[in-house]
Amino acid sequence: MKLDESKILYDRSREVFPGGVNSPVRAFGSVGGTPVFVKRASGSHIYDEDGNEYIDYVDSWGPCILGHGCEPVIRAVQEACADGLSFGAPTRKELTLGEMIKACLPSMEMMRMVSSGTEAVMSAIRAARGYTGRNKIIKFKGCYHGHSDGLLVKAGSGALTGSAPDSAGVPRSYTKHTLLADYNSRESVTRLFGQHPGKIAAVVVEPVAANMGLVPPQPGFLEFLREITTRNGAVLIFDEVITGFRMGLGGAQGYYHVTPDLTTLGKIVGGGMPMGVYGGRREIMEAVSPLGKVYQAGTLSGNPIATAAGIATLKILMDGPELYEELNAKADRLTAALAAALPKAQVNRAGSLFSVFFTEQPVTDYESALTSDTGLYGRYFHYLLENGIYTAPSQFEILFLSAAHTEEDMEKTCRVIEAAAREVK
Ligand code: PMP
Repeated sequence: MKLDESKILYDRSREVFPGGVNSPVRAFGSVGGTPVFVKRASGSHIYDEDGNEYIDYVDSWGPCILGHGCEPVIRAVQEACADGLSFGAPTRKELTLGEMIKACLPSMEMMRMVSSGTEAVMSAIRAARGYTGRNKIIKFKGCYHGHSDGLLVKAGSGALTGSAPDSAGVPRSYTKHTLLADYNSRESVTRLFGQHPGKIAAVVVEPVAANMGLVPPQPGFLEFLREITTRNGAVLIFDEVITGFRMGLGGAQGYYHVTPDLTTLGKIVGGGMPMGVYGGRREIMEAVSPLGKVYQAGTLSGNPIATAAGIATLKILMDGPELYEELNAKADRLTAALAAALPKAQVNRAGSLFSVFFTEQPVTDYESALTSDTGLYGRYFHYLLENGIYTAPSQFEILFLSAAHTEEDMEKTCRVIEAAAREVK
């Protein structure tokens, strides 16, 4: 495979951007080699600057659930652009999108739009602290909630891939209120509530952990979090930046029938444009300015182009359950192929979300995820890439399916997975 143009662009980019990229995992740091510079994408395929074509399972890390360049979404964006790019004043579109979100996620009685998942979680935690008058939060090792200071403690995603789960540049005083628990461990959460009575403002969790590879919640774990937060007067925050509109219209909370106090959204809700949302119980959200004393604002918040893309995307998703049924059927196919081809590896799955871990140990939390052979993952990744399959350049991410993946894509992907299992040692 020729990557000459990507190499040239990468060399130039390294002079301009740290590591040549604007978000760390894109640099292929843990798998080595030249990052593929994408020129364009259409449906389930991306095309690089050298003219190589790949079936895309990164999906912009989740937003493009309808596939790339989905016609109604592109049209909505183009129409919105013609009316102006940003006003810094309220619009009908924000209200339309907000009401659509509320129809799908009734727990989000009141919400606020921001421009990224990072902002959504950071702001939700501020609201929870303002509402409860408490400082401490519980987060889980290996969960990623964006790059705000207080959450870069044993963080997943690129922080984990780059061996920097605790970031430099974050003063200890900024993270001293962040308490760490083990994903799927009730005991670790119970212990923290016991050690800090009346001090814990919130528990923030990815209801399906998807930033240390895919780690589903064990039966009863989310119900347990609901119960212990309620009993202790703490706010339960589901970070549904990945799972929102992915595990179904009702997100992970609909899938598992557990209702959080606050929810954060990103990715799909903006249809591929920068967008995040946080919201939940009315009395908590009424603590947010200008109603309450928790300050939070944004020049581009509720941006008309992003809301247009979000509305167009949700309209299609809300059209009927078939799209989610198809995503699940595709996940059935690929997870079966992975399990058959890689009998010693772990294939974890929840709904249409899945990932493969190169370890013989079941992966249920951060520690077990770390037993994976990342070198082997890197060789497997490159075999797939060479053969036209673009997946996450990191063991600690997941695969994203879209409505645009075709039968032909599935067949080819299964074939390449089988060949990779034979070839990659
Ligand atoms: N929360 C979760 C669960 C995420 O997966 C991510 C990003 N992958 C974020 C928050 C941060 O979102 P963003 O990158 O839009 O800031």
